[in-house]
Amino acid sequence: MPDKGFRSVNVTEQVWEKIKSRAKQERTSISAYATEVLTSFMEADERLSHYAPLIEVVAFEGNSVILRDKKLARIVEVYLHEKQLSCRHDDSRECVHVAFCQALPQVRRFVR
Ligand SMILES: [Zn+2]
Repeated sequence: MPDKGFRSVNVTEQVWEKIKSRAKQERTSISAYATEVLTSFMEADERLSHYAPLIEVVAFEGNSVILRDKKLARIVEVYLHEKQLSCRHDDSRECVHVAFCQALPQVRRFVR
């Protein structure tokens, strides 16, 4: 039984082994690591679901994704450098444009 204030969830052996080895790398517990990963995913997903309808892909050019941001009414470039995405408009690795690109299957396999 989980401790008070916690709930348990079932994952496949395969997922469990991955979480276990990442938690070991990060020197944290499996519960703490899984909670952190799920929390940050849910936050990014929530942010994205509000904003995603306002962004569309214009083109893929070399290491860049060209986006049209309808809220800003401008073109925004997100580029890949050393396996990390950065936004030229926001000069950020954590803005909605980067989050949007991270969700694209064409981009996901190039990003760590
Ligand atoms: Zn941005």
